[in-house]
Amino acid sequence: MTVSAQNTTPAASAAENASANAAATSEPDGSVVLEGVTKKFGGAVAVDNISLHVRPGEFLSLLGPSGCGKTTTLRMLAGFEEPTSGSIRISGQDVVGIPPHKRNVNTVFQAYALFPHMSVAENVAYGLRQKGTPKSEIRERVTESLDLVQMRSFADRKPTQLSGGQQQRIALARALINRPAVLLLDEPLGALDRQLREEMQIELKLLQSRLGITFIFVTHDQGEALSMSDRIAIMRKGRIEQLDDADSIYDSPASAYVAGFIGQQNFLPGMITNDLQVMESPFGVLRSTSTHPELEAGVDAQAAVRPEAVTVSAITDTGAATTPTADNRISGKVLGVSHQGETLQFLISIGDSQTLMSRLPRPSAPRLAVGDAVMCTWDAASVHFFPSEQATQAQADIARAVSHPAPPTSSISL
Ligand code: ATP
Repeated sequence: MTVSAQNTTPAASAAENASANAAATSEPDGSVVLEGVTKKFGGAVAVDNISLHVRPGEFLSLLGPSGCGKTTTLRMLAGFEEPTSGSIRISGQDVVGIPPHKRNVNTVFQAYALFPHMSVAENVAYGLRQKGTPKSEIRERVTESLDLVQMRSFADRKPTQLSGGQQQRIALARALINRPAVLLLDEPLGALDRQLREEMQIELKLLQSRLGITFIFVTHDQGEALSMSDRIAIMRKGRIEQLDDADSIYDSPASAYVAGFIGQQNFLPGMITNDLQVMESPFGVLRSTSTHPELEAGVDAQAAVRPEAVTVSAITDTGAATTPTADNRISGKVLGVSHQGETLQFLISIGDSQTLMSRLPRPSAPRLAVGDAVMCTWDAASVHFFPSEQATQAQADIARAVSHPAPPTSSISL
């Protein structure tokens, strides 16, 4: 496994190269531009004609299920793979054909692969030593790098004397020692347990904001991408399905795939009416505040509604709300209630083997039991319509991604 210190270009000369290139192309230091990039392995297309502009100092995540082309994209930026076609520029420099150590980028992998026989300080210093950097400068820069990840007091320890999170911090320090314009991170938190991963997410984001280095972060964990990224590129089958900030991706998914892949969705079938914001479904009339460009009157569609948007209330014998009288109101029967810590989740049968999921904050959730008759309601702004075939295909792809997740990694004992 090749690790971290691929960038052996001295920081000073890298900065000079970058500014010379930036001047030539007007693309600033830290920018990353992919244009029409395709990567084929034999006949198989791993990355399919993607274009992506990453802004300097941005935290951008490539998010998608196993096999969608995230790592291949990252490896082309690092220089471990060359594109079959298309162009890649980093800080304005055309990097296609340029070897990894001559690019002003560095990579942190999931497997930190620190040298076990070397101390923490020696591991961090490795790249500078290889280049013959003077000892006094090495000492200064190793200290500075270890300070960045709050590990200076561990300088003399061996990697085996560190926890998984501490080892990953050292791998980060090693990758940052040359202050690359762009840091590439390939599932760097994937081997850590959940609590540590969440702590490291906060640390990584803080570190990135402080340094102002462009981070391109590969993950298949949507929570990780949502919590850290300025923008997220959702990948599917080698293509970018949507590139946006977390709010836009969550609230305005561009496709049924994005809608279902990020968070959870209820999909309800129906037919679009003359009013393109209204769908007639077997369960009632559904209204959205938006339309989909591919949908027209009379076309089969599916409405996507998030469980947290669905409010549920008990239907009482005397209650006026016993029949659906308005849009986005569907009656049903509680099939199951599950406690999820801060939320209660209700599974509701709305007929014809169709169910609806509702997830509500526990303090405000109604106390319902299996068999209770309920009314489900939601705002039109929470509904998105998608072409029926697109939604069906998306659900099948997502189900496949969930049943074939990324291969497990070696666990770290902490
Ligand atoms: P994961 O989350 O599992 O790492 P990924 O989204 O990073 O997945 P890639 O590793 O980029 O996906 O792989 C994309 C596709 O390219 C997959 O079908 C994979 O099998 C294929 N692939 C990747 N590297 C090679 C290679 N060296 N030779 C042949 N096929 C490859």
